[in-house]
Amino acid sequence: MASLFQWVKSFFLIDLVKGLMLTLRHTPKPAFTFQYPAERRPVAPRFRGVLRLQVDPANGAQTCIVCDQCAKACPDDLISLGGHREPGQKIKILDYFDFNLSRCSFCGLCSEVCPTKPIKALVMSEDYELGSYSRASQILRIDEMYDGLPIQHYTR
Ligand code: SF4
Ligand code: SF4
Repeated sequence: MASLFQWVKSFFLIDLVKGLMLTLRHTPKPAFTFQYPAERRPVAPRFRGVLRLQVDPANGAQTCIVCDQCAKACPDDLISLGGHREPGQKIKILDYFDFNLSRCSFCGLCSEVCPTKPIKALVMSEDYELGSYSRASQILRIDEMYDGLPIQHYTR
């Protein structure tokens, strides 16, 4: 019975017709193509890209309070940071922030625990272009941590 069914399917080219119908159904739709790198594919609102530090957009001031919580939260010990206190200043000055991108699993724990409000000092950005030609360049230093695409803030 099964072989008869196969024979009928082959004789009437059922699979070919099915394939053609699928092609016809999708042909009038616009092509799902982005002219990368001139045009970047938009990411989901809560996409977890490369970690970035943020300054206060109003005045460019440092938002990180050098609390070290992100470094402690990272399960792979990929963040190392330090700062110093200036006389008369309430928050510490961030001196260095080293982030080992090459081993990051993008779990987001470091960003999750960052306590600063209303601007979170450490965010997972929309940057997904991670390629580089050396291992050394996968260690992002403090200046590079402020680089990257403009941050889109996700609100529930
Ligand atoms: S995203 Fe996860 S693995 Fe990457 S630095 Fe943050 S805590 Fe560590
Ligand atoms: S958790 Fe946030 S505020 Fe604290 S050291 Fe890390 S980036 Fe800075």
